[in-house]
Formats: sequence, structure tokens, C-alpha cells
Amino acid sequence: MVTIHEIPVTPFQQNCTVWVCDRTGESVVCDCGDAGPVLDFLERRGLTPRLVVATHGHLDHIGGTAALQRALGIPFAFPPGDDPLRLGLPEQARWLGLPGAVEAPEAEVALREGDRIRFGESELRVYETPGHTPGHVVFHDAEGARLVAGDVLFRGSVGRTDLPGGSFEQLRRSIVEKLYVLPPETVVHCGHGPTTTIGHEAATNPFVRLG
Ligand SMILES: [Zn+2]
Repeated sequence: MVTIHEIPVTPFQQNCTVWVCDRTGESVVCDCGDAGPVLDFLERRGLTPRLVVATHGHLDHIGGTAALQRALGIPFAFPPGDDPLRLGLPEQARWLGLPGAVEAPEAEVALREGDRIRFGESELRVYETPGHTPGHVVFHDAEGARLVAGDVLFRGSVGRTDLPGGSFEQLRRSIVEKLYVLPPETVVHCGHGPTTTIGHEAATNPFVRLG
């Protein structure tokens, strides 16, 4: 089984998640917007990080990834459709008026639809869910009925589509065809704010719902 921990990072309160294989302590870090709190967490828990991944290329999701890689010596797996955002990270920081230099992380592994991320005796599956950004992916833990959804779906809301490369029609299709087909009890870990479930959003989400 996988345990998923949420660590809010950056002024945007982005939920970095750390996935831990309960049997081996091996772990994966997802959406490392800031390395400091994540490194503290890994050390306090005595975890063995193997990989860092990201749902998409926005600054609050990958801004701390280069520093994390340097500290831990682990590879970064990233969807190639968001490479322009990843490589433009310093520019994103300037748009947002953030002080100091932000380094674009190198991506050693390309994440694509249907890939499986294996760590210890656990695995999560990759689904491509464009709309918020062109390359956005989500990660599904089928055994534990959980989804790490980045900025696709939130409790009572959806990801914004007015940023460069965004498309509401694509986002709607991603949610209906990739997310709402999952079992309704699936717990959704969102990029911002509280968790929700697929069933709750499919029935009540004001932006994209079924039926
Ligand atoms: Zn985003």
C-alpha cells in the first residue's frame, strides 16, 4: 500500500505530495515547488526518496525541484508536453514578481499515458490530462483508490484555463474521460486546497459534472 502525505509549499499553498511504500519506506516526491520543507519531511520520517515527478510545469509545482535533485541525487520524471513551461521557469518567476533566481530542473525521464511509476512494492499509473496546461498528467493509485490530480480538479472547482496553453474544452474532456470514469470513492489529492472524491465532484462540481 501507498501512503500519500501532503506538504503545502510556496506562497500559493501548493500541495506537494510524498508517496511512501508502506512496506519498504521507498518514496516518490510529486510537485516540489519548494525543496526546504520537503527535505525536512523526508529526513524526519527517515524515508528513502527514489524519484521526483511533477503533474505540470507551473512554478509552484516545480520551482524547488532542481534544488531537491541536487540535495538527493534522484532523477526527475516530467511530461514532455510541458517542457516549454519547465524551460521557461525563470520567466514564470519574473511574471509573478518573485525575487531571486529560479532554476529550471533537468528532466531525465519522460512521463506518458499509461506509464507506471514503481517504487518499493508499490506503483502509480500516469494519465495525460491536458487543459490547465498542454502536458498536464495525473497519477493514479488503483490499489488505494487515490488520485494525485495537480491543477485539473479541485473540491468544487477546476483548474484555470486562461494561462498560456490552457483550454477549457480540453480540460473538460480530460475530467470527464480520464477522472470521472474512476471509481466514485477515489480520493482526489488536489494541487491546492482540501481533498475531495471523484463521486462528489462528478455529482456536484459547478464547472464540470456528469449528467
Ligand atoms: Zn498550475
